[in-house]
Amino acid sequence: MIYLDNSSTTRPFDSVIKAVSDNMADNFGNASSLHRMGVNAEKTLKEAKKTILDRLSAEGELYFTSGATESNNTVLFGIPKAYRHNGKRIVTTSFEHPSVANPLKKLEEAGYEIVRVKPPKRDEAQDYEQRIIDAVDDNTLMVSAMWVNNETGFITDIAKIYTAVKRRNPKTIVHADAVQGFCKLPSKGLKADLISLSAHKIHGTKGVGALYCAKGVRFEPLLYGGGQQKNLRSGTEPIDLIAGFAEAVRSYPDCTGKYGALNERLCGKLAELPDIAVNSYNNAKNILNFSVRGVRSEIMLHFLEEREIYVSSGSACSKGKTSGVLAEFGVPDRDADCAIRVSMSPFTSESDIDALVTGIADGIVRFRR
Ligand code: PLP
Repeated sequence: MIYLDNSSTTRPFDSVIKAVSDNMADNFGNASSLHRMGVNAEKTLKEAKKTILDRLSAEGELYFTSGATESNNTVLFGIPKAYRHNGKRIVTTSFEHPSVANPLKKLEEAGYEIVRVKPPKRDEAQDYEQRIIDAVDDNTLMVSAMWVNNETGFITDIAKIYTAVKRRNPKTIVHADAVQGFCKLPSKGLKADLISLSAHKIHGTKGVGALYCAKGVRFEPLLYGGGQQKNLRSGTEPIDLIAGFAEAVRSYPDCTGKYGALNERLCGKLAELPDIAVNSYNNAKNILNFSVRGVRSEIMLHFLEEREIYVSSGSACSKGKTSGVLAEFGVPDRDADCAIRVSMSPFTSESDIDALVTGIADGIVRFRR
């Protein structure tokens, strides 16, 4: 099996499976219990927090959530409530994940002004981060921008935005959906007041994520209940999944060089095939989106599946529907219909890439009209 759909989700590392099952068996206490089982669970929770904060090179608090969808919703609904008087303008990009884009639509319906900044066009020397910064005024409550786009891999310089936004309006809160960049890009590119993370994109398990919150920043909780996690995220913490999340962070190797080389190999081989259009630019090297003109995504996806090669058409979240994100990156509709997203992992090898390209070449011969 050649799994190249790691932006959708990943196979948990063996070390993660072990950490989760060990904790399920031996460390199943409730972190709020006063006895030793509770204390042990709390200790695991604290250690996991430290591991993740260290990887972010950030000081502040970390709240565990059910995943990045919850983290993003917590920010987008919790910040407006906590900072009611800081303005009604929110600056974002036009290509956010639905877990940011849809809450923003709700805020728009409630009277917030949402400014959606488009990405730069390919080959145009536009400073698009500067356009985000320029959109911030005295009335701007928040900036919410994703670090790495899940469909194309496009990278936004969040650290640059953070520094400039704070200079322009120190009250503006900066949030980053860092799901696709975390552990894959160097953390120096990421600085924000609030950061959303997800374990299952880095070989942890589904059902656990985190929200980083810088010192001095507050938000209203999304969930009310037993008051766990300083009253900001009620609900019994899944210690097993959290231990697995921390283990994934510890186990994720530095793949910068590897992804760069595999990406170059893939692009080089695709360039030899007819009618391929590469849709990614300024992208994280583990993600490549391209169109095989004349062969619809789903046809190619299922053809590759017969060879046990798994890729995605656009974004897994949009399940066959075009999400509109590729159009934001200047991809015409007819190319979007033929788009394939390849997303790699530390397990991906050169021979996986070669088998993929052979599969695509064969698919072109068989299906292209
Ligand atoms: N943000 C981005 C950029 C994503 O790619 C995803 C998942 O596809 C999410 C948020 C949602 O993450 P989760 O599945 O943990 O809710």
